[in-house]
Amino acid sequence: MTIGIIGSGAMGAGIAQVVAVAGHEVYLLDQSATALEKATANIASTLRKLAEKGKMTAEAAQAATARLHPTTVMQDFVGCGLVIEAIVEELGVKQQLFRQVEVVVPADCILASNTSSLSIASIASACQRPERFIGIHFFNPAPLMALVEIIPAVQTRAGLAEEVRALVQGWGKLPVLVKDTPGFIVNRVARPFYGEAIRLLEEGVADMATIDWVLTELGGFRMGPFALMDFIGHDVNYRVTESVFTAFFFDPRFKPSFTQKRLFEAGYYGRKSGRGFYNYA
Ligand code: NAD
Repeated sequence: MTIGIIGSGAMGAGIAQVVAVAGHEVYLLDQSATALEKATANIASTLRKLAEKGKMTAEAAQAATARLHPTTVMQDFVGCGLVIEAIVEELGVKQQLFRQVEVVVPADCILASNTSSLSIASIASACQRPERFIGIHFFNPAPLMALVEIIPAVQTRAGLAEEVRALVQGWGKLPVLVKDTPGFIVNRVARPFYGEAIRLLEEGVADMATIDWVLTELGGFRMGPFALMDFIGHDVNYRVTESVFTAFFFDPRFKPSFTQKRLFEAGYYGRKSGRGFYNYA
């Protein structure tokens, strides 16, 4: 099956690597040629390094790289059996994109969003054939994180979730079926994790390095909340918080913080921009 991925940022590039390694021809599309060049070079270099470390053969790395086709032209999706979208977390933009995708892809092509927090039903509602729409939610970095949430919408046809689950499992992932609710499992549980950490900071209970240290060294988390928010990016993370808060009818448990909102507004997105809660410059 040929797969189209839209968005060559952190997630789209990672997902493209996963499916190329799994043996699919992949068309990786982005509106930014610069982002596309960077993503393609990164994937090729990552695969080369994996081969050097003996994690895969040099032939397999070369073959996976050759299966990856960067493009800025949607028409290249004409033979796709599955399209996964990983663009900016904005409902209107995603809906508009899928209207364009449906003009090009075959009638039986599965359409999927990697959205972290938007309702799958609302994205699917923009489609001519919403019954072929589903959420496939990877975690960052996609090549390393095993968990994938599979989210059928109310419109999704019976049987599609199982087909997608089997496909994703074949990529070496651990898929879990989840209902179409705000934040699904992981991003819902993660909201209070980040929110309480920021409240601890705002109340002066402890500084952020201490909170991160306590939760990693003593709490067993792989990353502390501030380091993790910086890693995800405040553009993405703030939008997800806002979206989950709104989707839960403004339940105060999910209330976003001004501290994070200001970082987002200032363009202090975290690692990707050199500054977030911590300074990476
Ligand atoms: P990103 O900002 O790193 O990348 C987004 C890419 O999409 C950019 O390269 C941009 O040029 C491209 N793009 C934007 N609009 C486009 C359009 N209309 N057509 C084509 N390309 C377009 O974002 P990301 O972190 O990869 O997140 C992408 C999606 O995945 C979001 O929905 C996000 O919520 C979700 N997600 C993110 C994470 C994470 O940890 N970053 C984890 C899981 C899911």
